[in-house]
Amino acid sequence: MKADVKPILVIGGGIAGMTAAVEAAEVGYRVILVEKEAYLGGRVVRMNRYFPKMCPPTCGFEINVRRIKQNPRITIHTMATVEEITGEAGDFKAKILKKPRYVTGEYAIDESMTEKLTSERADDFNYGMNQTKALYSPHDMAYPPAYVLDKEALSETDTSTITKTCPDGALDLNMTEEKINIKVGAIIVATGWQPYDVARLDNLGGGQFPNVITNVMMERLAAKGGPTGGEIVRPSDGKKVENIAFVQCAGSRDENHLPYCSAVCCMASLKQARYIREQNENAKVTIFYIDIRTIGSLEKFYYDMLEDQNVSLIKGKVAQINQEPESNDLILDVEDTLSRENLHQKFDMVVLATGMVPNTADVKIPFELNYDDYGFIDGATDIDGIYAAGCAKHPCDVSRVTKDSTAAALKAIQCLNRGE
Ligand SMILES: Cc1cc2nc3c(=O)[nH]c(=O)nc-3n(C[C@H](O)[C@H](O)[C@H](O)COP(=O)(O)OP(=O)(O)OC[C@H]3O[C@@H](n4cnc5c(N)ncnc54)[C@H](O)[C@@H]3O)c2cc1C
Repeated sequence: MKADVKPILVIGGGIAGMTAAVEAAEVGYRVILVEKEAYLGGRVVRMNRYFPKMCPPTCGFEINVRRIKQNPRITIHTMATVEEITGEAGDFKAKILKKPRYVTGEYAIDESMTEKLTSERADDFNYGMNQTKALYSPHDMAYPPAYVLDKEALSETDTSTITKTCPDGALDLNMTEEKINIKVGAIIVATGWQPYDVARLDNLGGGQFPNVITNVMMERLAAKGGPTGGEIVRPSDGKKVENIAFVQCAGSRDENHLPYCSAVCCMASLKQARYIREQNENAKVTIFYIDIRTIGSLEKFYYDMLEDQNVSLIKGKVAQINQEPESNDLILDVEDTLSRENLHQKFDMVVLATGMVPNTADVKIPFELNYDDYGFIDGATDIDGIYAAGCAKHPCDVSRVTKDSTAAALKAIQCLNRGE
């Protein structure tokens, strides 16, 4: 390895970006990791537990954080994006734009300093299902473990309160955007995914019915750090869920929405059915599906769920969801395609299993890359020196993401060493 070898830029600090960063750094390469949120971990740290082992996201995440902390070769920029990339393989220049956090150090602020505040903001970590104070810790496991100030949400009174209660030097209310210019030899794009927008699914409530939630919201509802402390209850009235439906392929495998399969939604719903059954032994779960796709060893999870008498699977694409005005219960219309019966069934809550949309569908990487029809980066035609990893490339689960990211780290290392 050359002593003057340039670093690798990793864009996106989810499980894909973290994995690529630690794999490259542990063999001696410098890495600059750029993450747009205030914390690392991406969507995975927002899961309650993850299949197939049903372990909490802490297990894999903590190991990666430990590896990052131990490695001086990794530089992290959170609340940051890459605004410009120029150059070529082995010799790229990039401009990073870093938003102000207004909090200057880790561990400097704690809950006692924020509890008197009245200014609040929607908790985006919990998909807006609750509010946090304007000065907040993004979540319990957040790394870096530093608070963030939403200055726009802060009232004048609260500005004066935090100035008095927070230790000297912990806050810098005059902090501004920072621009950082870097030179790197290779780039890994690990910008991941976002859930499909339910507002486009008019026939399924269009996001307007309180008791119709999405699969990512269900993860937060079931999580201890979620809006209900982990109790799965109806958003409209806080009642325990007794009879719940999952609508598979909500906007997926549909020419009017996402024509592709997101690969993980069947497993996600089976996993979430288990959350419900573990919390309430009387709860009934119905999963409406087109095809159940549980690839390879995941099939066992599916067959185990079929053993549960309170879990029913009905083959049929849900045509319509209506809401009863008084009760906020939901009525689902669906044809059972095996019995050819038209069903009209009532549930107290519904989960839409929405698919994954690449973040690059909306916001492209500022360099000419090849994308497929849906905005995923086309891994088959990688640009020399720029390699995509994880869900930036295709929808997949964590185990596939980590293998893919390790491969991307290797490609980046090969690029840095070319010509030696
Ligand atoms: C409902 C649901 C449940 C799931 N449950 C499981 C499960 O139990 N087990 C399992 O194995 N898989 C599960 N998955 C799949 C899992 O979430 C993905 O495999 C994983 O999130 C992919 O990681 P990633 O790093 O590629 O993307 P992400 O998790 O999306 O991370 C991407 C990161 O990049 C950042 N970013 C985006 N754009 C930019 C930019 N321009 N600049 C800088 N940073 C940027 C994002 O903020 C984010 O931190 C589930 C998926 C769904 C939909």
